[in-house]
Amino acid sequence: MALAPVRPLTAFSAQTPAQDASVQRLADDLFVLRIPGEASVVANISADGVVLVDGASAAGSDALMKAVGSVSGGRPVQTIFNTHWHPEQVGSNELLGKAGKPIVAHENTRLWLNADVTWPWSGKRFKRLPKVAQPNKTFYTTGQLPSGVRYGYIPDAAHTDGDLYVQFPKQNVLAVGDVISADGWPVVDYTTGGWIGGIVGALQRLQTMVDADTRIVPARGPVIGVAELKTQLQMYATIYDRLTQLLNKGRGPGEAVAAKPTKEFDAQMGNPDEFVRRAFESLWGYLSPDA
Ligand SMILES: [Zn+2]
Repeated sequence: MALAPVRPLTAFSAQTPAQDASVQRLADDLFVLRIPGEASVVANISADGVVLVDGASAAGSDALMKAVGSVSGGRPVQTIFNTHWHPEQVGSNELLGKAGKPIVAHENTRLWLNADVTWPWSGKRFKRLPKVAQPNKTFYTTGQLPSGVRYGYIPDAAHTDGDLYVQFPKQNVLAVGDVISADGWPVVDYTTGGWIGGIVGALQRLQTMVDADTRIVPARGPVIGVAELKTQLQMYATIYDRLTQLLNKGRGPGEAVAAKPTKEFDAQMGNPDEFVRRAFESLWGYLSPDA
């Protein structure tokens, strides 16, 4: 990346402003906002204000709020959902929490945001959020906003153990966070509960919630439909099968990678090694005899 030499060095810290958003219109009142390098955000505009599904990272929050202002005609954010606890989702929480807005999440997401988390496979550390930035309206099963927007827990632990969906029935749109990746292999965050069996379970569950016209918005990649959902379900079910067979034969993660359990999908999905390793390790917590 080329740096513009006229700007002071401090401008190139972690707070480097994100570039402008691209906006995909799903309906007159429903948009997908994409800030380069950030997870996608869904914005639902009404007379009362804006409902957001996820809020970008802290570094992307300013650019996101600018984009929200431009699609909403300056209406304020009224409610934000956190589809799960990852930093790419919760970077606007502090701003909105300080403004007294509802931050809706599954209770498990709040618990993770109230704890320091370390990923054992990379050593990456995540500091707990200040109280004001933590979800302040948590739930366990399902809920509904006065506008008719529905939300619910995805209890399969596909990506984390706090995943939620947000359903816009009028527009037939389903926002699913990182439970579906439409941009290559997903992160299987088993530290906070996610596992490959949960991906299969969640995709089966989501399949019962959509019809031929439903548009599904993942946090990464393009908007997809039921055909892509079915293709992904078949793929992950196949991989899950192969990985459990390897586990039952007493194989380890390195052997699982070497066995190429994703081989027919790699041309489309990209290098699978990191995914296969995480997916295999995720089985330990759920399927190992002494777990
Ligand atoms: Zn995530």
